[in-house]
Amino acid sequence: MSEEVNKTVYSEDYDDGFADFFEKIKSNSQYDSEKIKSAYDLAHDAHKNQRRRSGEPYIMHPVAVAKILFQLGMDNECIISALLHDVVEDTQYTIDDIKERFGAEVALLVDGVTKLGQISLSTREEVQSENIRKMFIAMNEDVRVIIIKLCDRLHNMRTLEHMPEYKQKEKSLETLEIYAPIAHRLGIRPIKEELEDLAIYYLDPIAYREIEKNLSMKKEQGEKFLSETKSEISDRITSLMKNAEITSRVKSVHGIFRKVYIKGKNFEQIFDIYAVRIIVDSVIDCYNALGIVHDMYKPLPGRFKDYISMPKPNMYQSLHTTVLSKSGVPFEVQIRTWEMHRTAEYGIAAHWKYKLGKGSKDNIDSHLEWIHRMVEAGNDIESPEELVTTIKGNLSIDEVYVFTPRGDVKCLPKGATIIDFAYAIHSEVGNKMIGAKVNGKIVNLDYKVKTGEIAEILTSNQPGKGPSRDWLNIVTTGEARSKIRSWFKKEKREENIQRGKSDIDREFKRNFIRLDSENYDKFITKIAERQHCSTADDFYAAIGYGGIAISRLMPGIKDEYNRNWKPKDDILPKPSDVSNVRNVKNETKSTDGIIVEGIDNCLIKIARCCSPIPGEEIIGFINRGTGLTIHRRGCANVPVDISLSPEPQRWVNAHWDSSAKIEAISTLDVYAIDRDGVVLDITAKMANSHVKIHSINARPINDGNCRTTMTITVNSKEHLDSIEKTLRKIDSVYHIERSTD
Ligand code: MN
Repeated sequence: MSEEVNKTVYSEDYDDGFADFFEKIKSNSQYDSEKIKSAYDLAHDAHKNQRRRSGEPYIMHPVAVAKILFQLGMDNECIISALLHDVVEDTQYTIDDIKERFGAEVALLVDGVTKLGQISLSTREEVQSENIRKMFIAMNEDVRVIIIKLCDRLHNMRTLEHMPEYKQKEKSLETLEIYAPIAHRLGIRPIKEELEDLAIYYLDPIAYREIEKNLSMKKEQGEKFLSETKSEISDRITSLMKNAEITSRVKSVHGIFRKVYIKGKNFEQIFDIYAVRIIVDSVIDCYNALGIVHDMYKPLPGRFKDYISMPKPNMYQSLHTTVLSKSGVPFEVQIRTWEMHRTAEYGIAAHWKYKLGKGSKDNIDSHLEWIHRMVEAGNDIESPEELVTTIKGNLSIDEVYVFTPRGDVKCLPKGATIIDFAYAIHSEVGNKMIGAKVNGKIVNLDYKVKTGEIAEILTSNQPGKGPSRDWLNIVTTGEARSKIRSWFKKEKREENIQRGKSDIDREFKRNFIRLDSENYDKFITKIAERQHCSTADDFYAAIGYGGIAISRLMPGIKDEYNRNWKPKDDILPKPSDVSNVRNVKNETKSTDGIIVEGIDNCLIKIARCCSPIPGEEIIGFINRGTGLTIHRRGCANVPVDISLSPEPQRWVNAHWDSSAKIEAISTLDVYAIDRDGVVLDITAKMANSHVKIHSINARPINDGNCRTTMTITVNSKEHLDSIEKTLRKIDSVYHIERSTD
């Protein structure tokens, strides 16, 4: 990436790692060594005046990326493209130069990687979503683009120490949220794990060191345990199954991090720090081996998982069980065939590495199917926040498996509701749904399905029945949401138009947009055109079914109105126009340091659920007769899309009056590794920074950790940020959270 480039001229000799790598290429007939050498020469020449931040010549980076792809077993075009991947971005060479010398395929890959490189993923959500979408479109064209990008990211993460701290955190977060999940979905385990571990190293160095310390304390004892267990199992299995191989491994740092720091488990409670893997020839041998293992050791209840009959969405297959060793140490056993092993280790890359013949098409297609789905879902999603949520939801590792009464399995992201399940079966099932039973019992429509449950959807063929608009607020998968939307789009055009009209009417009234009927039609047509709707009715309908969020368009519409359409004699609304609760004026004054658009002199309350503080985006909710409650825009009680909420007219824009001095109350949860004097250190720091503490309460949580909850006075978001920073500096504090009711 160009930001890493530091231009200086250098002349000394160096080893960029290519010579050794090239020896390996030459001895492998799969590769066209001449072409690879010439790609290297071009890259070497192109980057000759550039250095990385570490001071090393830039060429080391593309060579390192090519090496990672080689280890994955990727093809000739990938290796060449990796060597050239930063040439177009950073030097005077163009994509046409590359096409001319290396052909269209390489040019396409390099172009794809270059474009991905220009996409920044860690920006605000609305930009981020568009960028993630671009990424999926690029992946959809040739999945090798993202595989190269993953290797590029991996090398950048390996050399992240040379970047400034804020960059390290930014890149690490992006890696953890976007790249590692993609590697996971493509099934490329070694890359996924290394990306995660490196990201944790930078994001939470204290936790990382803690885990490392814990692991190394157990190292000797662990190695002894694993080698003894391995040989015990080996004695029984290998005499019965030829070609069986037993290996062992220790859980990755990130894996432990997830359990200890996110799920709040004690280090001792993690059962699968140690894992033994049995690889055999056939599926039947897998189940036989499982029988032997369960005969040798006591299995822990509820820990057996059959991913052979129910593969994970990334094609992963294995049997998992956790058993208790004779000395009482629990450990995980994974059992799989050699073919499953290849998929488990290389995922989609196995397609190139093992040059699987027919049959392998399935492998690559089912990986790609997921990408197709993401691109399709993206097309139907209108709001940026929604897209990011959909994608992050789809990338998330936690999945649930739910059965239909006939025994088919549907895989859904964790948190999915029974409606999502219905739409996962078929859009017709979802559209005709009138209720549902889970394990034989009737459940509510917002019921969240869990792994292993049998869910039955009750449907009705009665005409006129269909999904309800409220469902859009209940479902969690993009698939269900877009299917519901398209039902409304198709089935309810007239209704949508009416609904759209009244939505617009209401918004216009709220914003004092008044036009006579002739101008009204012209004005609407103009706005509709801007939204790529060919008629006003299309525009109304799009608003009606929720495809266009009118509240989002209002700032632009108001602007257009004020500029070109506002009648010259437009006067302020007469007092009789407005309800007596709200004293509406055209200008607004601040009350309690908060300015509410269009409302003045109103009783304002700060919502207890989110306690917003100055500097944060806020929004007001009009209570019936009792004034206004101010929430954080991101509060769970504020709908993401106001226009889809039951009473959108009750939400009003609000912001902080920057001229007022405000004291707000905020409550923080400070998590620390328990030691003597933690609370004392916290109070001392707060006193030093002149922060007023209203209350403080500390108590131990799971073994060895403690949570200190304190309520303090703050005067702005920056103030709170700086307090959090101060707290984070205290020894053994590892996590701070705004606490909510
Ligand atoms: Mn690069």
